[in-house]
Amino acid sequence: MAKIFCVANQKGGVGKTTTTVNLAAGLAKIGQRVLMVDLDPQGNATMGSGVDKRELKYTIYDVLLEEATVAEARMPSEKCGYDVLGANRELAGAEVELVAVERREARLKAALAVVSAEYDFILIDCPPSLSMLTLNGLCCANGVIVPMQCEYFALEGLTDLVNTIKQVHANLNKDLQIIGLLRVMFDPRITLQVQVSDQLKAHFADKVFNTVIPRNVRLAEAPSYGLPGVVFDGAAKGSQAYVAFAAEMVERIKKM
Ligand code: ATP
Ligand code: MG
Repeated sequence: MAKIFCVANQKGGVGKTTTTVNLAAGLAKIGQRVLMVDLDPQGNATMGSGVDKRELKYTIYDVLLEEATVAEARMPSEKCGYDVLGANRELAGAEVELVAVERREARLKAALAVVSAEYDFILIDCPPSLSMLTLNGLCCANGVIVPMQCEYFALEGLTDLVNTIKQVHANLNKDLQIIGLLRVMFDPRITLQVQVSDQLKAHFADKVFNTVIPRNVRLAEAPSYGLPGVVFDGAAKGSQAYVAFAAEMVERIKKM
């Protein structure tokens, strides 16, 4: 059975999508079978995996509304080496449409259970909110990966996320835990970032991943080519860091 991880942080632009697609590509590179699930109506993780969000017959929206199965909706990304369950703007409507249905927070869990045996990892790219969509992600996950920039306000947003995760853990999903905080867009020349990074380590100890993702322009350029940095330029510092992170994740799940 696959281990399922949400990449979540309700703060926008912190590197969720970059982390999801590059971790997926890194895991694929080291031989893991991966399904990448785009749970954000922006569809950035879909496009960033070389799948055109405007040309999909079925998306995760259809899966959530039980109009298609994951097997029907997923697309292989040949260049990237993993499968993609894509999203586009349509998904924004699911938020409203799901309000009226039963087991609305468990729809994704039920759908993924069917294909779980086909993968080692299922990675879910969450939108920048603690919405019904994110809740669906959290309900089916074994763990949450929280990318964060080492900035002054980073810890503030973390409190809301931690409380949400605690509530989901208590009421909906006993498996759920924060697997780790991933320091991203890190620049060691900025003293404040080094200080915040040290604070994170002191506070959260082994909940902070050893791997640190540096700020690296190749990671930012890659999406315009429809590729994760790991595939676009494997030699770049940022790409190497994500492959190292993939190896760290493989080690982590052995202990789960
Ligand atoms: P949203 O909340 O809108 O979904 P997000 O949390 O998914 O955003 P990303 O889209 O991954 O964040 O990243 C935000 C921006 O930062 C993008 O332009 C991305 O290319 C850039 N970026 C992410 N990680 C890095 C990095 N390590 N080095 C340089 N640029 C990065
Ligand atoms: Mg994103």
